[in-house]
Formats: sequence, structure tokens, C-alpha cells
Amino acid sequence: MLYYWPHTYPDEILYSVIARYLKISGSRGPKHLLNNLFDRKTISATLDLPSGLKHLIHNLEMFDKDVEMILADNTLFPYYQSFLTPTKAEKVRHSMLSKSGDIHTLIGINAGIFPAGKSPKYCPLCVKEDKSENISPYLRRTHQIPSIQICTQHNIYLLELNKSRVNFNKHEFLFLEDHLDQFSLIEQNESTEYLNICKDIEKLLKGRQNPFDADDPFFYRKELFKHGLVKNANQLSTQGLYENFTDLYNDTLLAKFKSSVNLDNPSCWLKGIFRKHRKGFDPCRHVIIDNFLKYLETKNESLEVIEIENIKYPCLNKVCEHYNQSIQTTFSRHIDHKSKRQITLVECNCGHKYTHSYITSKQNYFTRIKEYGPVWHSKLNQLLVEEKMSIRAIARILGCDSKTVNKFKSIIVEGDSTPKTELETKQEIWQQHMRKNPKSGITELRKKKPALFAFLYRNCKEWLQKQKYYKSNPTSKLRINWKARDLEILQELRIARSNALTENPKKRITKSLLLIMVKKEKMFYNNQEKLENCDEYLSKIHESKYFHRKKRLVLSALEMKDGKAEISYWTLLRKAGIRKEYLNYELIQLAKGIVNGTFELSRQTFIKTA
Ligand SMILES: [Zn+2]
Ligand SMILES: [Zn+2]
Repeated sequence: MLYYWPHTYPDEILYSVIARYLKISGSRGPKHLLNNLFDRKTISATLDLPSGLKHLIHNLEMFDKDVEMILADNTLFPYYQSFLTPTKAEKVRHSMLSKSGDIHTLIGINAGIFPAGKSPKYCPLCVKEDKSENISPYLRRTHQIPSIQICTQHNIYLLELNKSRVNFNKHEFLFLEDHLDQFSLIEQNESTEYLNICKDIEKLLKGRQNPFDADDPFFYRKELFKHGLVKNANQLSTQGLYENFTDLYNDTLLAKFKSSVNLDNPSCWLKGIFRKHRKGFDPCRHVIIDNFLKYLETKNESLEVIEIENIKYPCLNKVCEHYNQSIQTTFSRHIDHKSKRQITLVECNCGHKYTHSYITSKQNYFTRIKEYGPVWHSKLNQLLVEEKMSIRAIARILGCDSKTVNKFKSIIVEGDSTPKTELETKQEIWQQHMRKNPKSGITELRKKKPALFAFLYRNCKEWLQKQKYYKSNPTSKLRINWKARDLEILQELRIARSNALTENPKKRITKSLLLIMVKKEKMFYNNQEKLENCDEYLSKIHESKYFHRKKRLVLSALEMKDGKAEISYWTLLRKAGIRKEYLNYELIQLAKGIVNGTFELSRQTFIKTA
């Protein structure tokens, strides 16, 4: 039974309340205190989904706490819950109340794209606000969501609490104020889209937000079908899916959620989630999909989608053996946003392709031939070249008008005597299209002629990519003197390193630490090859974890010596925070050398020269 329990702040994670409790009543040591809370001396300091809550509640009896309240308000349970089947959610809940089972494995977090965060995250501006309101800075639950890297209130990147710490003890509840990063760098988030999705993800904490049905493994698939991304009645139009998806999300944004997509990759998550979502996807991916479905909905709002059941599409190629039959045809559907019509693309085995759509204003169906196909073309060749028939007769046999025959005739006759294949014709049209639009890149060209592009992409992807496209060059306006910039940043890095070394000599100096300190992390990685001097400098001064252990040994020994403490082998290892499993021959020899005085201690030994 407890007689004191700290006040819980809005959106505070349980971990933070426990840390404050331990801090405030810390006189008898954390083990004793943890025993008061959980009826046992060691418990993992779990940030997201803590266990042993039943004991905690029992011990908090007099504070009128309810276990459901804690689950819902102070843990990440609601974040994961929405996408678990009710049975699994119950299992997780049970594990959190008792102390059984590995919750992270159960949900699939360990194998997922965002493993549970081990070190708490915080927003330096939230900390500032807390301080100005005279409350002890605390850890927000929203900041601990693994897929989110920003504080959505202040729109800045979050910092990690234990970044500067030498070791990480999984039983220790870190008290925010004791571990604030002394460099407290503020990096603004520039992307509104990213901010919006993060806000949507945060809403998951307030309970179920979307109509997702965890019991139906094909829920998403059905939703897509409603939006017309269907091929052959029950098959998904993957092409349509990826086109729409990448229209909405660019790769930079997706990469932030570790969710880039690739149509050519058979195990791309986007295919997987529409195949069967059961596999367990990170909640952020569900939010991305939910948002995508909403996008499709608004995109299609003004559309009338005709009922598509039971319509059969015949082959319209008069010289095909399946003419007027639907046995060899397949179809796919998409929504045309210009005409706001649902278009069905029908393709026969013979290569004949046409689109079919319903025009509401005229109340009739509309058909347009897209491709005549190789069977049709070879028949045309035969009639023209071998049988030398008249245009009109050919048109009658092929089921088209004379104009069409003439059009293809000119293509056949052009060049040398060998007739051009459909592919060559299309390639020629594409090249004309490029010449007509000399200032358009491939994306723009594609947007103007999507069908042609799709055909070429399917039939001669390499050829398509090999063409020389116009590349806009935004940096040409703002010519950057990279040499000068390289040296400038190098200077900043040197200063940052010397500051880091003075402020906390035992801290591990790494490439990313310095880059973060000078706020050039992204910039550096985007232009690494142009920043040669910085690159070289950073690789020279970067301390490996192993190097850092040796450095800690020497500096700890020096500290102990300064404090006139007696140095023994084990006190030294403890002071340096080196765990047994990391000890190897060299480290043992070094530690022993320090203890028996054969190793000469010097502060300079483990400062890298650069
Ligand atoms: Zn904030
Ligand atoms: Zn056919």
C-alpha cells in the first residue's frame, strides 16, 4: 500500500510518473520502492506497454486509480489495440495486467519496422513550457509513439533521452530533468504532410478512429474495390493502386515512416497489406492506408460508379477467333478524373484492347479502341502486302474504317519494306512526344500520355528509361561554392567537437553527434561527396563503441585518481560502466595495466587526432 503517488499530468506516460515517484521518494533506493509498486524488486522499465499493472493498482488503492484508466490514458496500448483482433488485444491486456508473456513479440513489434523505443523521447520546447509553468518536465505519451519523430504541438523534432548516456539499464526509470541533452538542438519539421499524418497517428491514442475491422482480413481489399481499383472482377489493379498511392504520397514522406513502396518488389508492404492485413503491420501504415482510402473517396466523390457485377466484355477484333466472345478477355477498371467516368479497359488474348465506359448525360455506353493488337496487325499486313486488296475491302474485313487502314498503311510503307511492329510505332510516337515537349521530364511526359507510357513501360522498360529526358536543374540558379562550404562546415565541426569534449569528456564522439550539433545532418548526407574535408574529418574522429570503452576506462581512472579513490579492477570497470559481456583480452589488459600502474594514464591517449 502506498501513501504517496505523484500527480499525473495530461498525456503523461506511466513510465514518467513512476520515474518521478522514484525521484521524489528516493531515499530508500529504487529497488525497495519498486517493490512497493509492483511487489517485486526488479521490473523492466517498459516505456510503451508496461506489465504488472494489477499489482500497481492494488498498491495504489487509496488513489482511486483504475487499471482501465491507466491502460487507456498512460500507456501505448490504445495505439496498438485498434489493429489487433479482439482475441489478441485481450491477450495483450491480460499480459499487461499480470506479468506474463512477451507483449512485444505477441503484437509483432519486435519484428516490425518500428521496434519499441528503448529510450524515451522528449520535446525541448515542451520541457521549456513545463519549466515556465513551474512543473517538473515530464514525458508525453504522444512523444513515445515509435513511428513519430516530431512534437506535433511545436512541430519540431524530438530528442532522445539517453543519447548522451554511457550505458542503458533496462531496469532504470529515467527522470527527464536529470537527462536532458545539454545541446538541446531544435530542428524544425518542414513538411505539413508529415505533420498531418503524425497528428492522425496520435489520434489512435484516443481510441479507435477509423472503421477498420480487425476481424476481416480482407477489409482493405474490399475498400479498394469500392473505389474501382479492380481487375477481372475480383483481382486488385496493382498498377492503379500504386499510381494513386504515389500520387498522394511522395517517397520522402513515406521514408519517414519506413514505408517506401515499389511496384516491382513482390514483397512490397503495400501489396501485402491489401493481400491480407493479418500479418501485422505497424499502426502508422494503417493510418497511411486509411488516409489513402479517404483520399480515393474524395477523389471519386462526384463519380457515378456503375454496378459492375455480371457484365461480360467480348473481344471486338473482327479477325480474332474469339470475336464477340468474352472467353479470352480480361478487364481492369480505373476512374478517369478528367471525365469523372469509370473506365473499363478490356484486353483479349489476341492483344486487342478497348475501353468501355458509360456516359450518364447521353445514357449510353462508349467504346474506344486503344490497340488493335498483333493478330489484327498481321492480318492487315497480309491483306495489304500479300493479297494487295483495296483499302475499303480491308476495312470491311478488319472491322474498321478506311482512315484507320490508311493510317497504318503509311506507317508500314514508310521506312524500308519491313513493316513496323506496334511496339516500334509506339516508340516513335513517344520520341515525337519528347521532341514536342523538350522541357518536360519523364514524369511530365508520362502524365500527358499515360496509356502510351504504360504500354512502353510494360513492353520495353529499358528502352523507355534509356531515352534522354530533360532534367530540370534547380541548383543551377543558386550556384553553391562547395569548396568554401566544405571548409566552413569543417570549422563548425571542429568547434562542436572541442565543445563536446570539454562539456563531457567521457561522451562518445560520433559522426552523427557532431552533425546534429552543427545542424547539418541531412545536408551532409545529401551532399556527402561534395564535402570531402568534412567527410574525412568525421571518419577520423568517429569513435567506435569499442574505442569509447577504452577511453572510458582511462578517463574514469583519472577521475578516481583525482578524487583520491582507490582503484581496483572491479571498481574501475563499474565506474567506466563496462559490462562483463564486453570484456575482451585487450580491455582486461588495459584495466589491469591501469590498476597496477604499468599503463601510464594520460588524458590525451584516447583523443583522436584529426
Ligand atoms: Zn513540444
Ligand atoms: Zn481477340
